[in-house]
Order: sequence, then C-alpha cells, then structure tokens
Amino acid sequence: MAGTLRLPGFVNAHSHTFQRALRGSAAGGDFWAWRETMLAEADRQTPEIVRREYERTYREMLAAGYTAVGEFHYLGVEEAYAAAEAAEAAGMPFVLLHVAYARGGLPRFRQDSVAEFIEQVEGLRALGIAVGVAPHSVRACPAEWLEEIGRYAASESLPLHVHADEQPKEIEECLAEHGCRPIELLARMGCLGERTTVVHATHADGAELDLLASTGATICVCPTTEADLGDGFLPAERVRARGIHLCIGSDSNVRIDPFEELRELEGIARRQSGRRGVFSTDELYGFGQDVGARALGLDAWPQIEIDLGNPSLAGVESEHVPAALVAGCGADVVVWE
Ligand SMILES: [Zn+2]
Repeated sequence: MAGTLRLPGFVNAHSHTFQRALRGSAAGGDFWAWRETMLAEADRQTPEIVRREYERTYREMLAAGYTAVGEFHYLGVEEAYAAAEAAEAAGMPFVLLHVAYARGGLPRFRQDSVAEFIEQVEGLRALGIAVGVAPHSVRACPAEWLEEIGRYAASESLPLHVHADEQPKEIEECLAEHGCRPIELLARMGCLGERTTVVHATHADGAELDLLASTGATICVCPTTEADLGDGFLPAERVRARGIHLCIGSDSNVRIDPFEELRELEGIARRQSGRRGVFSTDELYGFGQDVGARALGLDAWPQIEIDLGNPSLAGVESEHVPAALVAGCGADVVVWE
C-alpha cells in the first residue's frame, strides 16, 4: 500500500510548552514534588528561551500532526509575546490561554488584581493575538477573580480554560475554603458554559460531571501527562454516559503524539469498563479534531497527511486505516518534511 490519506489536523487544546524540558529529569516523587521541579524550570524562562524553545517544540507538534495549539501560559506578558512569535515562526496556529494567578506559584505568575489581568488580556488582543482567559485553578484564583473573569469571558465571547480536579488535595482545600468542590465553585462563579474547557476533571464526582453536562462545558483530557504525574484516570464511562464534550492536550509535553493521547483515553475507558470500543473511532477523532478546535474558538485549522507506506500500516486494509492509526500507530505516520 502506498500514497497518503488526508485528515483534519489534531488540535492540542492544552500545552505548557516550557515543561517539555522536564521529561526524564523530574522522575520520582509525587505530583507536588514534580511541581517543585516545574517551578524551578518556569523560573529559568526568559523571553529569549521561550522564543527559541517554543518554536522548536511547536515544530515537533506539527510534525506529530497537531496543527493548532492552546498555550496555557503563566510565565509573564513578555514571554506571552515571545510564545506568539515562536508559533508564528513555526507556522503553528496558536491561541494564547492567558493565565490569571492571584496566589501561590511564583511571583512572575501573579497579577496584583483581576483588573491588571484583564488589562494584560486586552493588550494581547490589541496586538491581534488570539486569546482565551485562563483562571489557573481554584487554588490560584479566589472566588471574586473567578466571578469577574467569568463575566469578562461571557461578555467578550472568549474561551475560558481552567484546571480542575487534577489532584485530591486541591479538592480538599476547595472544600475547606468554600464548602464545595472545584467544579461546583466554577459553576457558582459563572465560569461554566459552552466556551468553558475544564482541564483534567480526573477526580470529578457525579454532581460535578452533571454540571459540566448541563452547561455544555468541555473536558480536556491529557492522558500521557496524567499518567506521568500519577494523577489518576478520567472517569471515562461516566463522562461518556453524560455526553460531556472531550478534547485532548499534550499538557506537560512528556509525549507529543495525538494518536497516543486518544489510544490512552480509550485504553482508560476499556480498563474501567471491561469492554472494548467504549468510544468509537469517529468519536475519538472528533475529540482530537473538532472538539479541540471549538474549545479554542477556531473555525479552521490545517489538515495533515498520513503516510500509508509507513511500516506500522503494512497489511492494513484501507477501510481499517483510521481505526488502526488510533489502535496501533505513532505520530511518525504523519508526513512531514
Ligand atoms: Zn495544565
């Protein structure tokens, strides 16, 4: 078999591109130990490093079949401009998910007020950069910030992305501070809607999943990162039963391979349910393509070509190629010069 197959490109709806540097060097410990290493790497970043390293990593993403990226960015405004330039140089369609950070983390992550955050967003938009708003998490943003950002996103029709329910400790802290769980707090503060993407939702309970379903919000699942960090498993069948939209992200970029993210998602669902084909092949492609684009507010993004002569497709009948790509291939099947 030879020739190529054209497909819509995959959409990487959640990336912290600087974390690509950590693969292999942040072994051992739990999520919170890894976070210390991550903070040290974040502190090392400059606009020059971002400009150089992000361009290289965006080229890697393009070669792997991702043809749009949502950069969940909290390294500072100058670094945001540098990331946008890097994407432009690489030819990567790019949405800057600019992060609001009130407390914790590093000083460089934080704004003094939610008004300062919105001013930063307005400045980025004025330069023609595609922007979404991203209250980092209920850990990093108090309720008043969430409420103001939710209102701004709704009035400006911007994507709103937020981490939630990645780790049990975050849920315990939210219960202690607010008397409710993270996704419940987001709902109360007006942060859930059709333009909302909740990243992870690994430990979401039934009531939280109901809120995501009833508001039309999307979950961005990042299985290779969630595995690497020991986060846990998306409650895949419960998500599916509620018809909650799903998209994918390479997150920490420990792996850059959309086929692997989709395979892992379906693998999690199979391990949990004892059944095969929990998500159909078409559904999985939809998560990787259309749903991710919608989560970033994109109407169009480039296609990719698959090399049908790749050894991993040898002997596969043409009607089985789409399923075989998800079940048994890596990103090296993507044609890239
Ligand atoms: Zn993240």
